[in-house]
Amino acid sequence: MGAKIVLVSVLAVMAAFGDRPDYTKFVRPEMGTVNTGGGNGCNISTGNLFPMIARPWGFGGWSPQSRADYSSRWFYDYADPRLYGIRQTRQPSPWIGDHGCWYFLPITGKPAEQQKDRCSWYSHKTETFNPGYYSVYLADFNVKVELTPVLHGAVARFTYGETKTPGVVVCAFKDGKVGLSDDKLRVTGFSVVNNNHRGHGAKVCQHFVMEFDRPAENVSTLPDGALHVSFAPVKRGDQITARIASSLISPEQAALNLWESEVEDFDMLVSDAKAAWNLQLGKILVEGDDIDKIRTFYTCLYRTMLFPLAVWEQDADNKVIHWSPTTGEIKPGYYYAGTGFWDTFRALFPLLNFLSPGMNAWMTEGLQHCWEESGWLPEWSSPGLSDCMLGNNSASVVTDAWLSGVRGNFDINELWKAVVHGANNAHPKISAVGRKGVEFYNEKGYIPRDVKIGDSVARTLEYAYDDWCIAQLAKSIGRPKEEVELYERRSQNWRNVFDPQRKITVGRNSDGSFAKDFDPFKWEGDFREGCALHYTWCVFHDVAGLVEAMGGKKEFVRRLDEIFELPPSHNGNGVSHEFREMLVMDMGQYAHGNQPIQHMIYLYDWADALEKTQHRVRWAMEKLYRPTPDGYCGDEDNGQTSAWYVWSAMGMYPVCPGSGEYALGAPLFDRVIVNTPAGKQLVITAPGAKYGKELFPVVKFNGEVLKRPFVKRADLQQGGVLSFE
Ligand code: CA
Repeated sequence: MGAKIVLVSVLAVMAAFGDRPDYTKFVRPEMGTVNTGGGNGCNISTGNLFPMIARPWGFGGWSPQSRADYSSRWFYDYADPRLYGIRQTRQPSPWIGDHGCWYFLPITGKPAEQQKDRCSWYSHKTETFNPGYYSVYLADFNVKVELTPVLHGAVARFTYGETKTPGVVVCAFKDGKVGLSDDKLRVTGFSVVNNNHRGHGAKVCQHFVMEFDRPAENVSTLPDGALHVSFAPVKRGDQITARIASSLISPEQAALNLWESEVEDFDMLVSDAKAAWNLQLGKILVEGDDIDKIRTFYTCLYRTMLFPLAVWEQDADNKVIHWSPTTGEIKPGYYYAGTGFWDTFRALFPLLNFLSPGMNAWMTEGLQHCWEESGWLPEWSSPGLSDCMLGNNSASVVTDAWLSGVRGNFDINELWKAVVHGANNAHPKISAVGRKGVEFYNEKGYIPRDVKIGDSVARTLEYAYDDWCIAQLAKSIGRPKEEVELYERRSQNWRNVFDPQRKITVGRNSDGSFAKDFDPFKWEGDFREGCALHYTWCVFHDVAGLVEAMGGKKEFVRRLDEIFELPPSHNGNGVSHEFREMLVMDMGQYAHGNQPIQHMIYLYDWADALEKTQHRVRWAMEKLYRPTPDGYCGDEDNGQTSAWYVWSAMGMYPVCPGSGEYALGAPLFDRVIVNTPAGKQLVITAPGAKYGKELFPVVKFNGEVLKRPFVKRADLQQGGVLSFE
């Protein structure tokens, strides 16, 4: 690491972490956690996040809980003045909801009977956020809480003032249960909360155990089912520690998972958690003088390393097993869940394939298990098959992994079967799984708008891109020519919803006619969470074809420019938070707060206008992201919106996952160093970026001028110098 460290000027502000830099200091888990909009986050959102304290890709995470009502999917708001406890959560998004959650609150004295009264005033000024450590002072009980995560649990430490009644309340919500072991050392329980209203699959039950370092003296069950334990009197500054583990399998497995915190030294576990994060965050080193940009960058990088969550555990023989979210059985192998491919196929999974293919090998193995157990690939998992959003983008996720060289304990031929099954069938109950409307799509080449399928244009565009992915996968694994050609042909179906007269995507009737009442500003209907102005660009795999269809490069550039100049109007059926996000940003129709348009700026690259990409992408980075509690726009969505920033700050973006190519932009930092999975270093230089320089007309890779503004993943992973000049 020595040579690398010298290159990084941020060291000036970096505290030494052993002999390695500590990137976790730059991470702001509170970024994007102001959730005040209308009390439920619906009206406007700045990320729709909670401050998640976890191990990278851990088995759930931990968060302060600032709302009393457990059933609210918005359980945290940075602006709330009181805390109700520390919650174990597996919530990927408030729109999806939490499952298996429970929480604890250290207290003194007699606890209030009702959950809504058991809380403490607190201040962010006494709070420490770090991906691997959290602490807060709870004034009402004169106690400091600290927590550090392990993979399947955490260790909590409570430092009390002098008190006769140091205690803890543990709550597993409605229908959960909490009790005390005979030796009075362990609080055990389970939570059956599942407020994923779109979830399908096995009934979730999360078991947990909290082992204290001393026996409880008193125990009582509160009217709402929460358990209160208290301990022998303590002097000021005395500490009580609890090791915590959880399991989706059984109480015995939860107890087994306690091995992760066998080292009882709390501070050592904090170091271990930070080291685990630094191993991941240290894959990219950025050089710059602007601490806000460095904080934003590492916060975004951290957000790309939380979801999907581990569902797997290790049995007594150290074998990897998982509770199947679709059948409830205990099965061998890895499994991950808690991500929506509609969001994350775009930039998050390509980032995994670029930086952490080994991690995606486990996730891909999990996809095969999901196929074997449920007969389908997930499109939105939490933890079972969730009925949310559209498309069939599992095809993109599998294809990009395979073509990026992700290999592991899975069989690509089995995954091929899964992908083809999903591409040609609709799930009988879950409209987001497989392809809703496939019978129309395969027959007509588009989803008609008059057959009650909904989202007709959005579906057609996404299915066509997914077909292109399937064709690439087919070629790569040597499928027969007819199969390759079938999917290649279908990948051109985007043309069927592109109106050659209006030169924009328009909903089409069964008889072939385009919608007469078409309004490019109208959200929903033939689109989902957007309008034709956003979706027309979703031809990731055939941008050259789209340029031609729109009338050539000059006209294409004019149309791209126009997006930023059009008024932020929407002629939809009311203003949801996605609409409003766009309205307030003063960026015209560039609705970055939601996913469909996030790749759009990079399309200038296909029309000889790299300088426009560079200008706009820097503008979007500077305008839309801050390392502050209101620092994201829209829903962050499981790492996708963060991955956009990570890619863009490196000067590139994977417009078409599955292609192995990234479109170029403008780096945010003078120098970025990527430690690639091949053990090589990729150095990206952009002198002057830190002073605001954004136009770099010449880009070279290893000294050779790039003739097109694209770079190949495979080349970059072999290391070298990508210089923006
Ligand atoms: Ca979204």
